[in-house]
Amino acid sequence: MKKMLKNYFMLAAALTMVMAMLCGCSNDATTNVDNGNDITTNVDDGNDTATNVNDSDDIATNVGNNFGTFTTVTDGKLIMATNAYFPPYEYYEGDAIVGIDAEVAQAIADKLGLELEIQDMEFGSIITAVQTGKVDMGLAGMTVTEERLQNVDFTTSYATGIQSIIVPEGSEITSVDDLAGHIIGVQLSTTGDIYATDEFGADYVEQYNKGADAVLALTQGKLDAVIIDNQPALSFVAANEGLIILDTEYAIEDYAACISKNNTDLMNAVNTALEELIADGTIQEILDKYITAE
Ligand code: GLN
Repeated sequence: MKKMLKNYFMLAAALTMVMAMLCGCSNDATTNVDNGNDITTNVDDGNDTATNVNDSDDIATNVGNNFGTFTTVTDGKLIMATNAYFPPYEYYEGDAIVGIDAEVAQAIADKLGLELEIQDMEFGSIITAVQTGKVDMGLAGMTVTEERLQNVDFTTSYATGIQSIIVPEGSEITSVDDLAGHIIGVQLSTTGDIYATDEFGADYVEQYNKGADAVLALTQGKLDAVIIDNQPALSFVAANEGLIILDTEYAIEDYAACISKNNTDLMNAVNTALEELIADGTIQEILDKYITAE
C-alpha cells in the first residue's frame, strides 16, 4: 500500500510537470498571451498569478487584485494630461515633465502595473481631453469645483491649494478687499480666473495661458495683481524681483485627479491606489520633497 501511494505521488508529480510544460502556467508566474488584438486582462486568482491575455481593441482590463477591472485608453498605459507650467506640481526639467503630480501619477501607474505617459496641454483643454477619452486622467494641481464635477469625476484629494495674491512691493493693495477696481492677471480657465471674473467682472481680469506670463506682465506694470495658487506663486515671486505675496488667503481648495464619468472602473482603481499611497505616507513624502515648510 505504501509503495502504491509512493508510485501514485510520483505519477501525479510527473503529470503536473508535463501539464506545466504543456500549458506553460504555474502559480506565482506571469503569462502573457498575445492573440493579435490589444486587450490586456490581468486575472488574480489569489495565487499571485497574473495572466495577461492580449486579445482585442486597445482596451486593458484588470481582473482581481485590489484594483478590480478597468480599462485605459491605450493597452498597458496610464495617460495623464497636465499643463507643465505650474511648479512645483508640474514643470519641465530639460525635456522631462517633473514635479509632484508627475511623481504621484508615477506611483499610481506603478501600483496598477501601467506605464505612465504625460501629455502637456493648455490647462483649459485637460477636462475635455479626459471627457472625450483622449487621456485617462488629468492631474494638474487641479481644484475640485462643483462646475467641473458636472463634467468629470474627481479622485480623493491628495493636496491642498490656496489662491494667493501677488502684488508689486509697495502696492496699495494689501488685502482681498483692495482688489476691486484694479486689473488682475490670472491663468486662463483656472479657479483664480473664475473667482476673479465672478467677483470683479471680466473687464478687470486679464487672462494668460501661463501663470508665468501673468507674473511677467505684473513686473512690467501692465497689471495691479495676479491671483494664482500659492505654490506656483512662491516660485514665480522667487524668480522675479520686486514682487510679494499678500498674507491673505483668497480661497482654500482641494487638488485631485479627474477621470471620465464613463470610466468608474478606472476611477475606482486609481482611487484605491491613491488611497493606499496616502495611507502609507508616499504622497506626503512626495509633497515634502517639493514643498519646504515656511
Ligand atoms: N488650482 C487651479 C485650478 O484648478 C490652477 C491649476 C493650474 O493652473 N494648473 O484651476
